[in-house]
Formats: sequence, C-alpha cells, structure tokens
Amino acid sequence: MPSDACKAARALVASAHRITVLTGAGVSTDSGIPDFRGPDGLWTRDADAGKAASLDAYLTDPELRRLAWRTRLDSPVWTAKPNAAHRALVELERSGRLRTVVTQNIDGLHQKAGSDPHRVLELHGTLHATVCLGCGATGPMRDALKRVADGEPEPDCPRCRGILKSATISFGQELDAEILRRARLAALDCDVLLVAGTSLSVQPASGLVPLAARAGAEVIICNAEPTPYDSLAAVVLHEPVGEVLPDLSAVPPSGGGRF
Ligand code: NAD
Repeated sequence: MPSDACKAARALVASAHRITVLTGAGVSTDSGIPDFRGPDGLWTRDADAGKAASLDAYLTDPELRRLAWRTRLDSPVWTAKPNAAHRALVELERSGRLRTVVTQNIDGLHQKAGSDPHRVLELHGTLHATVCLGCGATGPMRDALKRVADGEPEPDCPRCRGILKSATISFGQELDAEILRRARLAALDCDVLLVAGTSLSVQPASGLVPLAARAGAEVIICNAEPTPYDSLAAVVLHEPVGEVLPDLSAVPPSGGGRF
C-alpha cells in the first residue's frame, strides 16, 4: 500500500512538464559504489579519508598522489553497472518530461544507463577522464591507468610532464562555470525538482534546491536520511531510490501531454 508521501510525489510527477533531477552518490550504491556520508559511506568509516580529497593535498603530497593512482586501479566504478534508479531516469526522460539530470556523481552511470549525455550535467566532473594541472590538457582515464598498471607509480601529463589528476572536482577547486550556469538554469526552469540519493551537504550543488523552490518548483527529496533542505520540499521520502524512482517514472502524465 503506497504511503501518502508516495501518492503525493506521484501526483506531482504526473502533472509535471519540466522535471529537473539532482542526484548524488546514493543513486549508485546499488551499483556497488559506496557513498561518502551514508551509514556505510567511505567518510563515515574513515574520517581522515576526506582530507585526501583536497586539491592542496594532491598538489603538495606526492605520496598521496601515488596512493590515489594505486587505489584507482581497483575502483568499483570501472565494473559498475547502472541500477534500477539510473534506468528509471532514462524512462522518465523518454516520457518527455525529464529535461536535465544534474549529478554530483563522477561515475558516468547515468550516461551508461542511456540518459542523453547532453542532458546530464556532471557538476563534480568525471572519473573517466584526466586533466593536467599544468597545461589543462585532458585525456582518457584508461590511458593513465594503463601506465599505472604497467608500473608507473604516478603518470604525468604526456604533453608537458605536469601533474595529472582525475577530471573530478576536489575540495578547493572551482566547478566548471558553464556547467554550474546550466545547472542553475535547469533548477530555475523546472516545475518539479526531484532530488535523489544525496545528503545535500556540498555547495553549490545543494544550493540548487532553494534556488528551484524560490523560483516556484515543487521539490521532491528522496534520500535514506534527512537532509538540511527537507523543510523546503513538498514531499520527502526516506526510502530507497531503487524503489522510489522506478515507481515515479511509471506514473503516466496527467492531462496536457508533452510540450
Ligand atoms: P553523500 O555520501 O554525502 O550522501 C549520499 C546520501 O545518499 C546519504 O545521505 C545516504 O544515506 C543516501 N543513500 C545511499 N544509498 C541510498 C539509497 N539506495 N536510497 C536512498 N538514499 C541512499 O553523497 P553526495 O550527497 O552525493 O555528496 C558527496 C560527494 O561525493 C559528491 O561530490 C560526489 O561527487 C562524490 N561521490 C560520488 C560517488 C559516485 O560518483 N558514485 C560516490 C561517492 C562520492
């Protein structure tokens, strides 16, 4: 028997024409990629792990960089498959109502599931590419990882020999201004903001929620735990995203159809 909150979320999705989705690490836990702050999250288990995520630490500590490259070889991201939550968002997109997926995830699973890559905004970058912190050249992560697997402790930039890093946003690093601009536009120009699997504890991503709410969007938050923005939401569902998103994507549009 669906809860009142589920029914309310379904009604909002049914009448929505322009849905923007904001996702976080919680949509990928069912794919075997741990989140940071959930009960079994990487930072919940090891409070010091977060320190390594700063740009300053990466730039100044060669041992940390070597450790990052070694660890990355075994990242669950390389073998992860999209799960029911990712697939549900593809369905919602195909129904013509989902305009944009803004994701904090770096795993590429929305695109792997079949979301239109042009509609996916990776706010925190991607683990599938590298960037040189010296000259800015980008390249495929697999090329760098092959060098690590072949015995290089820290692959450098093939062009300028500068420090190579995953093309992800570390603490202390600016977000891509154009991607952030498009994410803010998507938050301003939606009738429903569907937030899924994020603790909403990282800015500026979490700031998209008050932005959308102030612009008149109905906010639905689906996350296992409470978030600091629950009071702004029309509906809060503390339930698994792998159940809620397929349920919502199956809701037929009410009246009006597409535009
Ligand atoms: P977070 O770890 O802070 O929060 C994830 C939230 O999802 C938690 O509150 C947790 O309780 C909830 N959750 C976990 N599994 C769930 C499920 N199946 N159903 C419902 N809720 C579930 O992650 P965040 O808010 O995305 O922010 C952390 C940062 O970490 C982001 O910047 C992101 O780039 C990065 N990150 C990305 C990945 C990835 O790409 N898969 C993984 C870990 C961290």
